[in-house]
Amino acid sequence: MPTVIIGTGLAGTRLAQRLGEHAVLVGEEPHAPYNRVLLAEVLAGTYAPDVIALPGAPAARRLRTRAVRIDRQRRVVQCDDGSEVAYGTLVLATGSNPVLPPLRGLFGADATVLPGGVHAFRTMDDCLALSAAVTEGTRAVVIGGGLLGVSAARALARRGAQVVLTQQAERLMERQLDPRSSALVLRHLTGLGVEVHTECRVRGVGVEDGRVRRVELHDGFVLDTDVTVLACGVRPRTGLARAAGLDVRRGVVVDDALCTSDPHIRAVGDCAEHAGTVYGLATPALEQADALAARLTGGAAPYTGTRTLTRLTLPHEAGPLDLAAFGETDPLPGDDVVQLTDATRGTYRKVVVRGDRLVGGVLVGELASVGALAHAWESDESLPADDAVGAPLLHLLTHDGGL
Ligand SMILES: Cc1cc2nc3c(=O)[nH]c(=O)nc-3n(C[C@H](O)[C@H](O)[C@H](O)COP(=O)(O)OP(=O)(O)OC[C@H]3O[C@@H](n4cnc5c(N)ncnc54)[C@H](O)[C@@H]3O)c2cc1C
Repeated sequence: MPTVIIGTGLAGTRLAQRLGEHAVLVGEEPHAPYNRVLLAEVLAGTYAPDVIALPGAPAARRLRTRAVRIDRQRRVVQCDDGSEVAYGTLVLATGSNPVLPPLRGLFGADATVLPGGVHAFRTMDDCLALSAAVTEGTRAVVIGGGLLGVSAARALARRGAQVVLTQQAERLMERQLDPRSSALVLRHLTGLGVEVHTECRVRGVGVEDGRVRRVELHDGFVLDTDVTVLACGVRPRTGLARAAGLDVRRGVVVDDALCTSDPHIRAVGDCAEHAGTVYGLATPALEQADALAARLTGGAAPYTGTRTLTRLTLPHEAGPLDLAAFGETDPLPGDDVVQLTDATRGTYRKVVVRGDRLVGGVLVGELASVGALAHAWESDESLPADDAVGAPLLHLLTHDGGL
């Protein structure tokens, strides 16, 4: 009996590559598997869609096919075209859905259909539809100032749109960045012509002739818009698992063998919850796929979690803004902090140390030391004894391979 994988995203495709002919891949998207992380580059016009295709998965592939039910008794997956696929092991790699905020006017009688002119930014189809809607001078409003919203705003600005980004939190990418690094991202976006409103809650949208024409802010201010992008976070896609009676909390609960509450069903990537964590990021999705492939081909090493580093490059004619952030970038009382700022070059580097461990850091504009810092953080080893905060740690910040 084959291993059947539901989902042709990063995790499902990687697993299929590793398992080769023993796997059957079932995915609803009509496109060949692609690297979702690079969608903003497609929107910006930097890459054609086929450039971001994932390297060929040797598994049998069924695209444009949605799995609609898991029959655990018979061990078959039922699909929306009426077909059934029998499995020995089933792997859920169903990813995330975008969060659609409960904005006044966004949904009509049918709560699942968005009005015209408003787009999520999750799939190649979202990206192509957005791309087709944007020309020079198009008025675009991006709702949400996390990683996704910042990437979308930058891409739309590169296409010549007049972009306004609204962010509810007090700063951009508040989950990853501290105030200073966030301010550099803000400066960068503003330099691209993006108008950024922080601490700004959207109350509703105004729809005319079936299209969103206005975005209404909480203070009564109204933004006219041609294209509105919802970048308000994601939620693990757990419907199939829940309906099949599997243990689901925020994500599909898995153990260190990436096994769900049914021993014949595994889960990896954005849809999985391991040790209370739903990552929602590419590196853990790939690491989980690798760990599961090793398990299914006879290995026994447990998956113990992933330490995730976020990297983003925001291209600009005057030079790109590169940034990397990991762990806790806001220190707790008693933590040691070393930071280096060069206002002229627009660079900023900071690390946070607790006891003898590196617990977080952020680098903007100057990433030469990211490899050494990521290694120190990922391995969670004590910093060398003479690395008490001061010169040696400074060395770590300023030299690649300082550890
Ligand atoms: C624009 C954008 C930029 C991003 N940038 C970054 C970044 O810089 N760094 C980072 O770490 N992460 C980033 N992410 C997040 C990253 O893409 C995800 O963490 C990653 O794709 C998760 O992989 P996955 O395989 O678990 O899920 P997904 O890639 O979401 O794939 C899931 C697949 O399963 C399919 N599917 C779901 N249910 C069914 C069903 N019932 N039947 C058939 N098919 C089904 C879906 O259609 C989808 O194709 C970004 C995401 C987006 C959208």
